[in-house]
Amino acid sequence: MVRRYLLGELTRWLKALEEIRELARGKEIYALPKLYWEWYKHEYYLPFSIESVSAYSAIDIAVYDLLGKKHGMPAYIMLGGLAREKIKVYANGWYRDCVSPECFAEKAKKVVSMGFKALKFDPFGPYFDVIDRRGLDEAVERVRAVREAVGRYVDLLIEFHGRFNIASAISAIRELEQFDPLFYEEPIHPEKNLEGLRRLRTVTSRRIALGERILFPEDAERLLREGLVDVLQPDITNCLGFTGITRIRAIAEIYSAELAPHNAFGPIQHAATIQFDASTNNLLIQESFYEFWPEWKRKLIKDPFKIEDGNHLVPRRPGLGIYVEDSVLHEFRIPEARPQYSEEPVWVVKNTWRSYTEK
Ligand SMILES: [Mg+2]
Repeated sequence: MVRRYLLGELTRWLKALEEIRELARGKEIYALPKLYWEWYKHEYYLPFSIESVSAYSAIDIAVYDLLGKKHGMPAYIMLGGLAREKIKVYANGWYRDCVSPECFAEKAKKVVSMGFKALKFDPFGPYFDVIDRRGLDEAVERVRAVREAVGRYVDLLIEFHGRFNIASAISAIRELEQFDPLFYEEPIHPEKNLEGLRRLRTVTSRRIALGERILFPEDAERLLREGLVDVLQPDITNCLGFTGITRIRAIAEIYSAELAPHNAFGPIQHAATIQFDASTNNLLIQESFYEFWPEWKRKLIKDPFKIEDGNHLVPRRPGLGIYVEDSVLHEFRIPEARPQYSEEPVWVVKNTWRSYTEK
């Protein structure tokens, strides 16, 4: 049984948020650096929990939104100004329910017909830790089907979800080199395996992308200093909000690294990330699930995003550029979060944790 932890851990997240709320109570809205310092030093023990960092990130993002709305300026102005008016995005979540190469090809064609010029997907089905000859063949057939469906000039981004051991990751990369992917994302679990990441460098000269699990700028700096990453993927909801992600951006720039922020959750994360991207020079590309969200996620905000020809337009409205639809928020509130269990891990695109050659 794979534990679907998201709902179960929601209560821990909310508790962390309550603790920071107490710390923030009575402080001026402009006092974000002071709040950061107090939170950082009061936490006391390292490493920090993901819940605490995520809760701090939520407050940070909310403060930028409030300040922007108070002063009538988009958040990107507070982040240094405009670096671009259009943001190239890659589609994710588009291959829901697909396991066969034909299904991947058909859906990929549809995505490209919507204007997208880049697609990310996980072609490894249910293979976990180790991938055998059959698994490699299935992955190759899926990627080949997509490449043939979309042609030479659409970027393919290969997601490994950090699940393989180093030998299996290397085998998979060797097989997929022929399809010229833009990057390989987390071929191995990146947090503690620096030696594994070094070995990947001997196998491919294509970009290695990682960073969605990074909590602090120092963690990004260590990976960059060691030369183990080309594309950093910080997640604004897990890396101290705008405060953390702009620090990571500055460090990445020093090392000539590119950014492709992780953006897999919902409309507030999406809106905040777009504001960040708009002010970022060293942006490679932006992840977007927007077109493939369930309807309720799209309805959570009043102001729809605009993606044209594979580019996200930057909203010029103040703050994050969105207003939350309270009625939808209340409709989908979970008063009591409980754990849920499923065979499919929480990190896969729904209904793709399956093989297609073994019935
Ligand atoms: Mg990922």
